[in-house]
Amino acid sequence: MGSVQIVTTVLAAAITAVAVWLAVRAVLKMVAVIRLGQPAPERFADKGTRAKTMLVETAGHTRMLRWGVVGAAHWFVMVGFIVLSLLVLEAYFEVVSPTGGLPLIGGLAVYGLVTEVIAVLGTVGIGVLIAIRVRNRPTRPGGRSRFTGSTMWQGYFVEAVVLAVLVMGFVIRGFKVATDHFEYPVWATPVSHAVGALLPAWPAGVSVAALIKIAISMTWLIVIALNVTMGVAWHRFLAFFNIFFKREPARPAGSGLGPLRPMTSNGKPLDFEEADPEKDQFGVAQVEQFTWKGLLDFSTCTECGRCQSQCPAWNTGKPLSPKLLVLSLRDHAYAKAPYLLAGGGKDLTGEEKATAAQLAHLDVLTLAEAEKPLIGDAEAGGVIDPDVLWSCTTCGACVEQCPVDIEHVDHIVDMRRYQVLIESSFPSEAGVMLRNLENKGNPWGAPQNTREDWTKGLGFEVPRVGEVDDFEYLFWVGCAGAFEDRAKKTTRAVATLLNEAGVSFAILGEGETCSGDPARRIGNEFVFQMLAQQNVETLNEAFEGREQAKRKIVATCPHCFNTLGNEYGQLGGEFEVVHHTQLLAHLVSTGRLTPVQPVDGGVTYHDPCYLGRHNRVFAAPREVLGSALNGGGRADADLIEMPRNSERSFCCGAGGARMWMEEKIGKRINVDRVEEAMSTGARTVAVGCPFCSTMLNDGVNGKGAGEQVEVVDVASVLLRSVRPDTAPGGKETAPTAG
Ligand code: SF4
Ligand code: SF4
Repeated sequence: MGSVQIVTTVLAAAITAVAVWLAVRAVLKMVAVIRLGQPAPERFADKGTRAKTMLVETAGHTRMLRWGVVGAAHWFVMVGFIVLSLLVLEAYFEVVSPTGGLPLIGGLAVYGLVTEVIAVLGTVGIGVLIAIRVRNRPTRPGGRSRFTGSTMWQGYFVEAVVLAVLVMGFVIRGFKVATDHFEYPVWATPVSHAVGALLPAWPAGVSVAALIKIAISMTWLIVIALNVTMGVAWHRFLAFFNIFFKREPARPAGSGLGPLRPMTSNGKPLDFEEADPEKDQFGVAQVEQFTWKGLLDFSTCTECGRCQSQCPAWNTGKPLSPKLLVLSLRDHAYAKAPYLLAGGGKDLTGEEKATAAQLAHLDVLTLAEAEKPLIGDAEAGGVIDPDVLWSCTTCGACVEQCPVDIEHVDHIVDMRRYQVLIESSFPSEAGVMLRNLENKGNPWGAPQNTREDWTKGLGFEVPRVGEVDDFEYLFWVGCAGAFEDRAKKTTRAVATLLNEAGVSFAILGEGETCSGDPARRIGNEFVFQMLAQQNVETLNEAFEGREQAKRKIVATCPHCFNTLGNEYGQLGGEFEVVHHTQLLAHLVSTGRLTPVQPVDGGVTYHDPCYLGRHNRVFAAPREVLGSALNGGGRADADLIEMPRNSERSFCCGAGGARMWMEEKIGKRINVDRVEEAMSTGARTVAVGCPFCSTMLNDGVNGKGAGEQVEVVDVASVLLRSVRPDTAPGGKETAPTAG
């Protein structure tokens, strides 16, 4: 070993020792913070599926690749990072000896080739990511950036380090080429040979370059160790765990949310019959009341802003950004952690758990952080402003887009639960809806004995369950479908089409009550459970003696469809639920319904969040509309898609119980969506949800465009094509003939 190698070896060892010590300390701190969360035992079930999902999502980059070039570039950088780790390890042999290399695989041409290819693609990939970050920087003139609110220096730093380490890899190899110590052939390592042709034959060059590479890598490790909230770097390690422990591992990537998590206390579902607010946790009032998975979520956020770029609230000037919400919770959790780790915290009656002696060593900033209310406006010094919390439509776009499977909606609803159930603090206008649900079983407060009014004048009998010996489908009408004038037309259109196709169905009539969706999304789990239990009992009775596959329900409201199909299982109700567009698509494809009249004037389709993104029903409504547009082959027209469609569809603004809250901040979400729909030039805007119908109709009318554009359900569009006689002039009317 020469004198240069002695110096490089000592320096490499010293900086590595410091970096590793700080990194171990940081990991222990992070683990301690995450362990402050509440138990979530269900996250350890089904480890095989979890492992498979994690491998598929990370190796396949299933979410990132939906972002095209960015996804591909990130894949190469990820693979490059893993391979880079091998090359950094190799550098430790090179600081000791200029001819050093990895034992066993070092020297193999295939190793030289693979590392060369990945290093080249990784360099191109990181160049692309840097260019995208610069191009989308928040300070650029005009436009909203998905990086607004992200800690930009951290992103630039991480990317610069990756680029520098990749470049130093070629420099080390180049010096080996120049000094004739390189073991790989030109065909396997052409770039390294090209770099070598430019470098002098300096024998110490290999060790010096290897030291620089180690120094850069260890500087990175030191910086991230000193910044445990630097998600843009830490996600490289945490993302594997966050994806492994995701909420619905069996659902394919990008399959929406699945059921909302039930309310839990100490890891167990809350039983409202026995629950006691002084002993049991009702939602989340303190950051440590999130589960440990919640705290892992906050730690893993990469600050990429994909969620923010899709959020309807953020895009219409509301204060809610799912990214900023996650970052606020993360920063608060880590700032409050020393207090909690010292034994601090409030019990469920609000009493401090720690003694003064336990907290004596904490600084004033930590103690001030501990006193911050989780939800509170600027004056109260809250971590999350109430306007942020109540702006969410639970559309799921953030969860759909997040590359590391962060569960924003669960966290938002958990915070709402505490506000509603314990503080009674929520937008006051929603109180009427909640009272109506409790007293009348529907959000409008309509009399229960008018639930079947929509059947009048149909020209055929709509049987109730119990009046017929057998039925194939239970037609779940929903409150909107029974009471809201526009939605009643959809209900009548569906019933007419089912009757036309000879499908045997029956309704619950006055036996039906609200599915509970608006209560659950606003955070009133108590009312949800009350309504849902009643419905589960009614439905179980209606299907008594039937095997699971024959407990079939068709629903016109995606919120009912989602709640009955995905969430009633939590209360013992297992049913086969389809949306009416799915059933209609099946009836058309099997020839039981035949469109004969082409729909003219152009049709665009608005994906309802709870049908599309939450349940991935994208194709069926489009198939139905396609068949109606072409009217039995008499036309050749295509659906006109809006720029934001399918999984990137833009919310109408009504989800998350926002239907019953005033929209006072920013641009109205429905107006934004209507402008997009009108920009297609289509005469008909088809929807598959009564709430979307209301919101978009309001938007169209608000723009004074009611004469030019019609918002109408997919079922009504099909009915016009199948039975033009029922809709004179192409305008929707209630069908009158059987
Ligand atoms: S669910 Fe929708 S509205 Fe709520 S934060 Fe996510 S993207 Fe925004
Ligand atoms: S998409 Fe996920 S990782 Fe990216 S900023 Fe949003 S929460 Fe963070």
